[in-house]
Amino acid sequence: METETITKAPHREEDTAEKLQAGTTTRSRIISGWRKNYIHSRIIFSLIKIAWECYGNLMDVLRGIDYLLRLRKKFIGDFKLKKIAQIDGDYYPYLYGPAYKGSTYKKFMISQLNDFKPVNKEIYRFNNIIVAITKKCALQCDHCFEWESLNKKENLSTAQLIEIVQKLQKQGVSEIQFSGGEPLLKVDRILEILNAADIRSTSFWIDTSGFKFTKENAKLLKTAGLTGVFVSLDHFEPALHNKFRGFKDAFFWAQTAVKNALEQGFVVALSVCITREFASRENLMKYMEMAKNMGVAFVQFLEPKAVGHFYGKDVLLLPEHHELIEEIYTEFNFSSKFLSYPIITYHGYYQRRHGCFSGGYKGFYVDTDGDINPCPFCQKKTGNLLEGELEDTLSSLNRGGCMDYSRFS
Ligand code: SF4
Repeated sequence: METETITKAPHREEDTAEKLQAGTTTRSRIISGWRKNYIHSRIIFSLIKIAWECYGNLMDVLRGIDYLLRLRKKFIGDFKLKKIAQIDGDYYPYLYGPAYKGSTYKKFMISQLNDFKPVNKEIYRFNNIIVAITKKCALQCDHCFEWESLNKKENLSTAQLIEIVQKLQKQGVSEIQFSGGEPLLKVDRILEILNAADIRSTSFWIDTSGFKFTKENAKLLKTAGLTGVFVSLDHFEPALHNKFRGFKDAFFWAQTAVKNALEQGFVVALSVCITREFASRENLMKYMEMAKNMGVAFVQFLEPKAVGHFYGKDVLLLPEHHELIEEIYTEFNFSSKFLSYPIITYHGYYQRRHGCFSGGYKGFYVDTDGDINPCPFCQKKTGNLLEGELEDTLSSLNRGGCMDYSRFS
């Protein structure tokens, strides 16, 4: 597979930007300008082709494309796409969505069109499901949503986790994220699950603190078919990240994980929990600078919720914080000033405009006991994946929906 290095002569900033720690290689870059326009036009053309294959009449094709454009507008407003991540030969306009021309791309697009008007083809019922594969963790994070289960006795065997993943794949899911605990503490388990799964029809990701994301583990996971890695990194100051994570080497491991994941050609996203203390323009600018220098393609902004270790604490962000973070989100993603920086995903921004897509509608969370919850931050157990009628459980989950953001039509 072709590998690009940082020693390569830089292109003009508006066309492409590549950056990684000196001495390492990267297969990940952000494209903008004419390169982005070219890929974007290919994406639009392929969508028209897919819509034609689905409906076979011009009226429905035009309405279907219009539906997709309106959906995008509801999420992010009138902004035009400014950049696309190019990783290991694939193109990712968004973090949550398949690579353009990747193995899950066509079916994912057919599934979105199916929401506009049913199509007579195989679809994904869910876009994204998070599955916690272990209760074990070496860290003690301030915001841990699995705090009550952490380091308790495991209730799920590897065989049961394989059964869970196979059941989910039968339902049709475009992306599964393995979380925990710290999934890397059970890397053999992940490899077994991936080995038993259909890695062509679902892309698999890991949510990690970075702990034990060694070079060797990165290579094993890549060979097993993992697509991407979310690395939690909550501060640009190592000491403050370590404090938040209750672990003296947390920053070191996050940095190591990013480097090893990039070298293997994974899609890499930094995930940051923006607390009230952290929510300042200066901090967010410095954070994005760090993310750019690390060479990641995406940054995910999360808001603290009063669950898990934060339960009963006054941690929710206030309207002024939302306003500031949304400003940073739009400036970095949609202005011409930050073309070389990673693309930001900010769930709060979309949820306040369109409601939540999790809660059983397009995704949900399977916790460390195999229980189904609306999402990791809305914990309300609604049946178990290994017991009872899955369809009944999913229907009642969907009826309950997200506890914070109801969905708009
Ligand atoms: S948030 Fe993740 S890394 Fe931190 S203690 Fe909880 S499971 Fe471990």
